[in-house]
Amino acid sequence: MHAADNVAIVVNDGGLPAGAVLPEGVTLVDRVPQGHKVALTAITKDTAVLRYNVPIGYALKDIPAGAWVHERLLHMPEARALDNLPKSTAPAWNAEPLTGYTFEGYRNADGSVGTRNILAITTTVQCVAGVVDFAVQRIKEQLLPRYPNVDDVIGLEHSYGCGVAIDAPDAIIPIRTLRNISKNPNFGGEVMVVSLGCEKLQPERLLPPGAIPLQANEALDVVCLQADKHVGFMSMIDSVLASAVPHLERLNARRRETIPASELVVGVQCGGSDAFSGVTANPAVGYCTDLLVRAGATVMFSETTEVRDAIEQMTARASSPEIADAMAREMAWYDAYLGRGQADRSANTTPGNKAGGLSNIVEKAMGSIIKSGTAPISGVLSPGEKLQHKGLHYAATPASDFICGTLQLAAGMNLHVFTTGRGTPYGLAEVPVIKVATRTDLARRWHDLMDVNAGRIADGEATIEDMGWELFHLMLEVASGRKKTWAEHWKLHNSLVLFNPAPIT
Ligand code: CA
Repeated sequence: MHAADNVAIVVNDGGLPAGAVLPEGVTLVDRVPQGHKVALTAITKDTAVLRYNVPIGYALKDIPAGAWVHERLLHMPEARALDNLPKSTAPAWNAEPLTGYTFEGYRNADGSVGTRNILAITTTVQCVAGVVDFAVQRIKEQLLPRYPNVDDVIGLEHSYGCGVAIDAPDAIIPIRTLRNISKNPNFGGEVMVVSLGCEKLQPERLLPPGAIPLQANEALDVVCLQADKHVGFMSMIDSVLASAVPHLERLNARRRETIPASELVVGVQCGGSDAFSGVTANPAVGYCTDLLVRAGATVMFSETTEVRDAIEQMTARASSPEIADAMAREMAWYDAYLGRGQADRSANTTPGNKAGGLSNIVEKAMGSIIKSGTAPISGVLSPGEKLQHKGLHYAATPASDFICGTLQLAAGMNLHVFTTGRGTPYGLAEVPVIKVATRTDLARRWHDLMDVNAGRIADGEATIEDMGWELFHLMLEVASGRKKTWAEHWKLHNSLVLFNPAPIT
């Protein structure tokens, strides 16, 4: 990955046997699995093992050239302290603006743009989830055929709303996440709520006056299941269906129009990563991130435990010292959050990451942050906050796939890009998810789940630049509704999972 590295990874399908000779002249002394590291030179005990020109660990014993360098041979470095970070010191970013690219989208009253036209039913509490599921099925069967321009009807169900310390300071995170998801651009500004009645998260607390624009004399549209007028289950279902009709009528009247690419709001994340993630898929996404920022669009990267070890690079790229400070603040908050649970960033890596060749969180992080490209970081969001301007943002979220996706939805994402090496069928009901495979083997086996094969970079068939442009063009097609992702095709929808760092009662 860098001329100074003393390890490289084996790209060959099935790995390489002991005795294989690398083009550099090194002979393997161990069998090295695909995606795993091989020592290019002899590495003496306690010296740094360099990948991406970053110490991903220190050798626990002498490692001969040609040996398999796995996590049991490495001592992981400590996380860098969060003081004395470089702030906004990177050279100016002089990329040419990219003009003339458009997609067909739904323009909303608040100026945001949807890539899909969906009726979303907000829920205040988990207790109503079964009723909302039942009602959503009824709406799909009985109402939706009359509204052909509406793509879908979904219930925004979650595990929050009651049995929680709702006045604890950190409760603001799940509450504002739900509030902001209900305003996601793909829902066209139509907000309807189903509430139980006795729950802690009352509708007025979730959506206080001013949270969503309402006409004069118009109240928040709430169906309360415990209301006296409901006699029997079917009366609840009838109420939800009756409430849905005016929303469906307004959504159905909308039409796609030509929109500049600057209105894309793309959330990028990875899951089920392997050692190829930082070689193929994430660099392709990073190249595309730069194209999007050049086109004036908004891109969010996230996953705090996968950014922590790169904090120095990130604060250097901040567009101002204030943005650098905000990034450091998010890292400090997360360090403390992990510390309360007697854990640290190293809790991130999975058995699959390690089987895929990623020795530890430092190596994983260096591959993960490449998704952010090279543009200046011009905004930072705390978990559950909504975007206020365009450009490249750090949206602080856990790395957990379904929690990261949920928080990026709250920020206002209208398109999601997800890279994977081990493979995941991840998908969201709320926005299209474009999945990018890091390896050709995965793309071949999961041919009807992966939308893009970035493994072609490792195969020598495409450059990072080629794949970045391919992804950019695919985004415009998917955003326009002209192309469906595989997750949309099969309707693979992960649940919303709220980040609730506050106590449960
Ligand atoms: Ca993730």
